Amino acid sequence: MKRKIWLGILSALCVSATCFAFSACDFWGTQSSSSDTVSIEDNSSSTEKNSSEESSEEVHTHDWDDGKVTTEPTCEGKGVKTYSCECGETKTEDVPVLGHDYDDGVVTKEPTCEEKGEKTYTCINGCGEIKTEDVPELGHNYTQGVCSCGDLQTKGLKYTLNEDNVSYSVSGIGSCTDTDIVIPLTYENLPVTCIGDKAFYNCTSLTSVVIPDFVASISDNAFHNCISLVGVTISDSVTSIGMCAFAGCRSLSSVIIPDSVTNIGNAAFSICPLLTSVVIGDSVTSIGEGAFEYCDSLTSVEIPNSVTSIGREAFFGCTSLTSVEIGDSVTSIGDWAFIGCDSLTSITVSGNNTAYQSIDGNLYTKDGKTLIQYAIGKKDASFIIPDSVTIIGNEAFSFCGFLTSVVIPDSVTSIGESAFSFCEFLTSVVFGDSVTRIGNVAFHNCYSLTSVVIPDSVTSIGNCAFENCSSLTIYCEAESQPEGWHSTWNPSNCPVVWGYNGE
Ligand SMILES: [Zn+2]
Ligand SMILES: [Zn+2]
Ligand SMILES: [Zn+2]
Repeated sequence: MKRKIWLGILSALCVSATCFAFSACDFWGTQSSSSDTVSIEDNSSSTEKNSSEESSEEVHTHDWDDGKVTTEPTCEGKGVKTYSCECGETKTEDVPVLGHDYDDGVVTKEPTCEEKGEKTYTCINGCGEIKTEDVPELGHNYTQGVCSCGDLQTKGLKYTLNEDNVSYSVSGIGSCTDTDIVIPLTYENLPVTCIGDKAFYNCTSLTSVVIPDFVASISDNAFHNCISLVGVTISDSVTSIGMCAFAGCRSLSSVIIPDSVTNIGNAAFSICPLLTSVVIGDSVTSIGEGAFEYCDSLTSVEIPNSVTSIGREAFFGCTSLTSVEIGDSVTSIGDWAFIGCDSLTSITVSGNNTAYQSIDGNLYTKDGKTLIQYAIGKKDASFIIPDSVTIIGNEAFSFCGFLTSVVIPDSVTSIGESAFSFCEFLTSVVFGDSVTRIGNVAFHNCYSLTSVVIPDSVTSIGNCAFENCSSLTIYCEAESQPEGWHSTWNPSNCPVVWGYNGE
């Protein structure tokens, strides 16, 4: 209604009908677009016709309908919407471009570990337009040192085809400069089954190594002298660790020998002075000679029930070793196995062991007749050998740093080679009257020993038996040197009193 009133005012002001009609449409035309104007011009004849009536009737103003899209817009082209008035006049208006509307896309090129892929999107409006986008490369995903694409995590190692032609050995560091090495599970699609002889010998910058599942053997000297090697992970496929395999690995701090390993080679872990922890798997049957010698930091070791033999010098010079537990099956312990284990206070043996037993932490044969190893780290000043003992084994008390007095009972017949050598605080040894033999160097370097009485039962004394006993006077019940005594039984010429009768 407001509109009608305004129209009335305007009609009164307007002289020319043409002028009015134009002004009204111009004034009221909400769209006032150029097309509106064009429409009016196109229909000028009807305007003229109407003008004859304008003086007598109310002026016509267009009353636009809701419009119809007369040209559909496309992804890239505008559409047209046309509005009509009942007077027959029309006007148009742009319909905005739709723009492309893309689907979710499909991967048209799969990415690989190292190369980008591609994803292609298609406009769902059917215009045929496509666009592409990169799919990032996947990156390698290593399992046991090898990616499914064949790429190796540790690159540049040297490999040698094994004689079986279906497996490889790692034979050298090659061009690899990594300090942390993961031996690959496979090489050229064949399993890597062996770390070859000296493969990493003297690789002084190597700090860690992982040995994967197909490796069955770590050969001799494989990691010998890898002085920076702190850690090694040995898979439970490995059955054999060769001679000196980890010898001289001066930084190696711990090792777990898996249950698959049956043999620990000679000197395999010798001179690993920082090795504090060793777990020996329960399939190991043989611990080689010197396997752990000079592992100065090793404090305890448990020999599992599978082990039957402990090699000569196996733990020689393990100066921090305080306890050794020996399992069911050990039937052979080589000489010097625990010599120089200055801290050793306890050697225990499984009750099921048929060859050995432990009494008060010392090692004896099962029958108790041979004292094999006194635990020389024990702080006791005196020791009375049990009267089951007939033989004091070679080196049984050697290097004992605490004992000052030892009593040898009447049951003992033989004192082994080097049995008391380097017992530097030993002042007194009392021999039982059944001793017949005193071995070579038996009391060698017992500087504190002041006197011994050698009963007339002794028929044999070995070479240098009392060498370097600088404080010693030797009292012999024999009237003169028996034939069976070695000519240099007393090479340092300690004073000897023959025919001693206790007075
Ligand atoms: Zn109209
Ligand atoms: Zn499109
Ligand atoms: Zn890959």
